[in-house]
Amino acid sequence: MIGGGQLARMTSAAAVALGIEFRVLAASPDESAAQVCAHTVLGDYHDAASVLSFARGCDVVTFDHEHVPADLIAAMEQAGIVVRPGGQALRFAQDKLAMRERVSALGIACPRYAPVTDLAAVEAFAAGSGWPVVLKAISGGYDGKGVWVCRTPAQAREVLDHGIGLIAEEFVAFERELAILVARSASGQGAAYPVVETVQRDGICREVIAPAPGLSSGTAVQAQWLGLRLAAELDVTGLLAVELFETSAGLLVNEVAMRPHNSGHWTMDGSVTSQFEQHLRAVLNLPLGATAPVAPVVVMENILGGTEPDLREGLVHVMALDPGVKVHYYGKAVRPGRKVGHVNVAGGDPAEVTARARRAASYLANCVEDEMLPGGASPDSADPAPAVAQEGA
Ligand code: ADP
Repeated sequence: MIGGGQLARMTSAAAVALGIEFRVLAASPDESAAQVCAHTVLGDYHDAASVLSFARGCDVVTFDHEHVPADLIAAMEQAGIVVRPGGQALRFAQDKLAMRERVSALGIACPRYAPVTDLAAVEAFAAGSGWPVVLKAISGGYDGKGVWVCRTPAQAREVLDHGIGLIAEEFVAFERELAILVARSASGQGAAYPVVETVQRDGICREVIAPAPGLSSGTAVQAQWLGLRLAAELDVTGLLAVELFETSAGLLVNEVAMRPHNSGHWTMDGSVTSQFEQHLRAVLNLPLGATAPVAPVVVMENILGGTEPDLREGLVHVMALDPGVKVHYYGKAVRPGRKVGHVNVAGGDPAEVTARARRAASYLANCVEDEMLPGGASPDSADPAPAVAQEGA
């Protein structure tokens, strides 16, 4: 796996159980996966020599993020290395404009969009869809970095001044956000997990509820079908996560990722087969595992760096308070707002399970029990910071 973040770390644990020799290309020994993976190779994923020499020792190469340059992926494929998902598929996870064009061509609904290079183009787009306009970096964004909700031409100009490739999108007044996670193996076997509800704040996923409460069975089947169809049409091998907006007019595709995804962390304790095992099965062309949930409701709550610098501090309290909470730490230094771990809680009642998960995550991050998760991203949260890709979501 290229990339040494928490997704590689958790995939590594799944590989241990299956007796698979799992190698990681990490930038430094401090990275999340490098700390725990015996077969860590240090190297820069931008560097052709490092990537090719790492890849030559592997039966299959896969990824913990989508930032490996497309020409390096092509170079691996040309060298006869088995890359899963392949470059043709990964392109749609790396390039939001290519993804929007392809999804639209398949007749699958997504927000109205247009490539924009100057303010005149943004204003022309806004003339059709109104303000706010969402500007998005075509590539390199993650966790909402690279997404700017612009209420005025002046805010749009500020984003355009970064000089990066952008698309404009209509601001979707969605009812809620959903995600569908599917796997497709090298031989084309497919499997879909239950549709989940995801709660974002400031562009960062905070909470996932599986299955999405109150979702009609028709919409759930439609979303699963959409995920499996996209995986086949885009020729994905491995996992495909599709982030969706639920609107009064139906489902819209927001984003796709071709790797283990934050919206699937609940599967570690809430499904027969965790997404990390499933990704390994898919890229190694093993039969896929069952995706059935093991409880009526499972809630995943991300632990974001807060006021507590030592994550071990809160463990005793949380474990004593609620022995059913499952804690997953990533071995990352605490920085404010950084994803440093997550908790999973399984149970019967969505409200009760959600409150338990929030309380545990809050205590681990801040040594304060808080059951409240403030609401989603606001249209006022235009962030003038440039898009910077550093670590996986
Ligand atoms: P990233 O690749 O950084 O995760 P996304 O495209 O998933 O970026 O956007 C991050 C979040 O921003 C979404 O989960 C959603 O809450 C909000 N968002 C993105 N696009 C739109 C849109 N067109 N309208 C309204 N909100 C949006």
